[in-house]
Amino acid sequence: MEYYSNEISKLIEELGRLPGIGAKTAQRLAFHIINMPEDQVTRLADTITHAKRNICYCKECCTLTDQEICPICSSTKRDHKTIMVVENSRDLAAYEKTGKYGGVYHVLHGAISPMLGIGPADIRLKELMVRLQGDVDEVIIATNSSLEGEATAMYISKLVKPTGIKVTRIASGVPVGGDLEYIDEVTLLRALDGRVEL
Ligand code: ZN
Repeated sequence: MEYYSNEISKLIEELGRLPGIGAKTAQRLAFHIINMPEDQVTRLADTITHAKRNICYCKECCTLTDQEICPICSSTKRDHKTIMVVENSRDLAAYEKTGKYGGVYHVLHGAISPMLGIGPADIRLKELMVRLQGDVDEVIIATNSSLEGEATAMYISKLVKPTGIKVTRIASGVPVGGDLEYIDEVTLLRALDGRVEL
């Protein structure tokens, strides 16, 4: 049964596809948008389209950026010989917020998960290995402490070890299954300081 006109139903349906948006929230957002002034709605729609069109992966670290090389990778103030490997750009942002990490990053965009059929070739590992052919002192593995994060850490350490580059893993203390982005700065820094060599 149709409760709303086609146009409204379509809007509710599209909003409901977004993560964390249930049917009720989708309805609330749809009606909010319809009640917004038209110029605001246009700005929102344009911002979404513009972001989608202009955001790409950094050629160095694979994070999402609107430049060919992201600001972190192009900074001369960062230590380019220390690479912290994270699962996604949100985790990178969590470490950046602490303001205490001076190295660079590598963003995998996922973690190895045999259950979900995500293998090593599905995340940005090849790109990492290419970077390791350069001048690198240490690879800090900062994947989540979930099953997938741990499996990914193990896999990376096995890949990196033969190169002779030091491989470390951030300390646990980060709760198991916890997403890095939700962990407070103190815990993040403690995990970084307490990293152990693999
Ligand atoms: Zn970068």
